[in-house]
Amino acid sequence: MKDYTVECIRCGASYPKDEIVYTCSKCGGLLNITYDYAKIDKDRIVNAKGEGVWKYAVLLPFDEHTIKPVTINEGNTPLYMSDRLAKLIGVTDLWVKHEGLNPSGSFKDRGMTVGVTKAMELGVKGVACASTGNTSASLAIFAAKAGIPSYVLLPKGKVALGKVAQAMMHGAQVFSIRGNFDDALRVVRVLCEEEKLYLLNSVNPYRLEGQKTIAFEVAEKLGWQVPDRLILPVGNAGNISAIYKGFLELKTLGITDSVPKMTGIQAEGAKPVVSAIKEGKAEITPEPKPETIASAIRIGDPVNAEKALLAIRNSGGVAESVTDEEITEAQLLLARQEGIGVEPASAASIAGLRKLVDMGVIQKDEKIVCITTGHLLKDPERAIAISETPKEVDADIDALRKVLKL
Ligand SMILES: *Cc1c(COP(=O)(O)O)cnc(C)c1O
Ligand SMILES: [Zn+2]
Repeated sequence: MKDYTVECIRCGASYPKDEIVYTCSKCGGLLNITYDYAKIDKDRIVNAKGEGVWKYAVLLPFDEHTIKPVTINEGNTPLYMSDRLAKLIGVTDLWVKHEGLNPSGSFKDRGMTVGVTKAMELGVKGVACASTGNTSASLAIFAAKAGIPSYVLLPKGKVALGKVAQAMMHGAQVFSIRGNFDDALRVVRVLCEEEKLYLLNSVNPYRLEGQKTIAFEVAEKLGWQVPDRLILPVGNAGNISAIYKGFLELKTLGITDSVPKMTGIQAEGAKPVVSAIKEGKAEITPEPKPETIASAIRIGDPVNAEKALLAIRNSGGVAESVTDEEITEAQLLLARQEGIGVEPASAASIAGLRKLVDMGVIQKDEKIVCITTGHLLKDPERAIAISETPKEVDADIDALRKVLKL
């Protein structure tokens, strides 16, 4: 059996691998999975064969000899050199990693392949989550693949169309909760506790183990180099914590020698992490009424805030907020300058980059990787709303010539 420990980040209490636990029962702290790094051969990462999340199985919390991954080929997303966008924004070395090209259309698949594999190992009777949409879509798909029931709680009327369609289509029991995401999470945590369902929100440390592979892929595609800065949208703050952990592990193993400045972007109407960073506070103050068109990051009380604050501070990063208008502009820029179609939350990373360059916080010659977290088609209503409506025209060449711009 591989040596790994499930440990509280506050008090250091550790928990057995077969105990179902999400936060420390002694102090309420978040849990973290750590390995006996001295026993891990770094060549098994550097020369790993295969593709995607399970390529890095040596740094995943399973026995590699007996593991049966529940997988649909998640991960291995493209890292695009984005010169046109770079020029427009005024930087020289910009890359975009498009996590929207995962099987379900968001990075959540990386966490779910590991989380649902763990659920099967534990032998639970079902899996559950609260979700702003993408977590539910991904959970429904992996539960279908695994052949176990899934239960998802969505904030009523606040979830983008494509995501609801996925959760329904793949057979989850879907509930529309009268409340916001934070309310839904509170309820599902009790449900999981009382009904012995496995909770797969990002408070679950196994999910973050899957998501940290974003860091491995970024470094690998850059020739085991680390960018100066990594920028991504922050909602529940699991992804920024996971990616930071991935880069730390590469450094610990001696594969790389630095960690990028972790740069978290939130929407103006839902920015508890940004406020805590700017005000130098040890804890976030939850936002009771989070608002933004970027529904994936419409979260007022991020569960992983404590980890995210550490990630940003320890890496020398920053946090910034952007308005819905700035997000929309960035979404259009990505689509039209680079051919990268993303949902609004994802565009926050580019909007944040633009703002931080204008503010002089980001230097023009930094090597920058922006993570775009979800696919354009997740939120088709928004795409239609911010684009020009097709002009109706008779099936006649002269009629067409009159309205088209050449
Ligand atoms: C989940 C999600 C986020 C936020 O990620 P966190 O780990 O909750 O911070 C951002 N964008 C998209 C598209 C998402 O699905
Ligand atoms: Zn503790």
